[in-house]
Amino acid sequence: MMDLKKYHLAEGPEIISQELPGERGKVLLDEQENYESNNRAYPRSIPLVPHKAKGSIVEDVDGNRFLDFFSFCGVLNVGHGNQDVVQEVEKQLHQLTHALDFPTEVKIDFMKNMNSHLPEAMQGNFKINFCGPTGADAVEAAMKLARLNTKRNLVIAFQGAFHGMTQGALSVTSNTKNRQGLPVLNNATHFVPFCYPYRLPEGTSSVVYAKHIRDIIENPKSGVDKPAAILLESVQAEAGNIVPTREFVQEIRKICDDHGIMMICDEVQAGFYRTGKLFAFEHFDVIPDMVTMSKGVGGIGLPLSLLLVNKEYDVWDAGTHSGTFRGHQPGIAAGNAALNFIRKSNLTEHIFNMGVLLRSGLERIQQGSKFIGDVRGLGLLIGVEYVKSKDDKIPFPEICTKLKNQLFRNGVLVEIGGHYNNVIRILPPLVTTEAMIHTFLEIYERLNNEVSQSYFEEEPEMAMEA
Ligand code: PMP
Repeated sequence: MMDLKKYHLAEGPEIISQELPGERGKVLLDEQENYESNNRAYPRSIPLVPHKAKGSIVEDVDGNRFLDFFSFCGVLNVGHGNQDVVQEVEKQLHQLTHALDFPTEVKIDFMKNMNSHLPEAMQGNFKINFCGPTGADAVEAAMKLARLNTKRNLVIAFQGAFHGMTQGALSVTSNTKNRQGLPVLNNATHFVPFCYPYRLPEGTSSVVYAKHIRDIIENPKSGVDKPAAILLESVQAEAGNIVPTREFVQEIRKICDDHGIMMICDEVQAGFYRTGKLFAFEHFDVIPDMVTMSKGVGGIGLPLSLLLVNKEYDVWDAGTHSGTFRGHQPGIAAGNAALNFIRKSNLTEHIFNMGVLLRSGLERIQQGSKFIGDVRGLGLLIGVEYVKSKDDKIPFPEICTKLKNQLFRNGVLVEIGGHYNNVIRILPPLVTTEAMIHTFLEIYERLNNEVSQSYFEEEPEMAMEA
């Protein structure tokens, strides 16, 4: 196993400012407010002003250092500024940057390399469509291609799904707040419940979720048109890193086969080795018809997005789905170098080991906690779900917000997600070292206890409110 220490800033997390944001940070946040649209989101939830970063450590403009345990939204899988990747990107910057969809040496190399990383059954059988630079662009391309193949309109998507903010991708994203005021989105999607093992109704098995989908497709009185596609995140990420069961995912594959429906797996966040395999669906032994990728595939956060499509369904003609920025050469070089780095460093084994370490540490913390209902995940995509009591599982978003803020003040960055914003989502860079995981667990345990304690103290008040 390669020593991964050199891929990080030398020093660990430390807060040196009296308060956060620090002095310089505060000035820049105020400036941001003056100039940038109200649409800005992250800094309102985490007042971070990053200055530099390497590996899993981010330093802000005041010299405070943080452990980045959300990989800046699941992007920096091989670590911030991974030096192997930076080297290749630098070369590419001097050589060629924008190339539309012309073939270039680096692009051909990348496609061959990606093909060699695919599950065996996909190798040689899938083609790569370069999309505009974002995850949403890949989802748009997938839905369009599924509709062209099937000559149907409807897409079945899942409650809790996040697929992007362009209007097509938003039409299959379930967050009602994001969809508000846009009735145009409601025509062509049917949302169904996602397999959520922790919240499975008592006495039922996870197959109930898939049976429901089969029923709405096969029951002539279901009121739902036959869909072009079923679009799923193999692990539902923004929804709280929910891992479905194998039976559920396999039954979806079967439903798609039985009815000529395209199975699209959105691997924008759960893919690119986040779960220890290139794709999360590999854990369930299925092969979808199309796969979307973005985020981690750009190596050091360069914009790159792909749609992988089974050759049989690659039915569109030249330019059916064009776009100017589908040939970002530094992004492609970064993706290529990231794939090489992952293979060279035998990273999959490291991801597996670190995933076990992190999860077992969190499960231990769960045992002593009144409010942690569930710890789940695959590889380094882990969710910690908070509930008011373990019996009734009523979501407890307030504690998550408090804990996330406290973690930030103590030099740790995490993200909140979940159907009810009651899940701490933990996605460290895949190069995170064992020592860093121990540091994280120590801080997490201490703050989880402190924050939980504050609710014990507040309990009489909560009871009065009820
Ligand atoms: N699909 C999934 C599963 C995602 O998590 C995201 C982003 N969080 C997207 C698509 C959209 O990606 P982007 O923000 O790059 O458009």
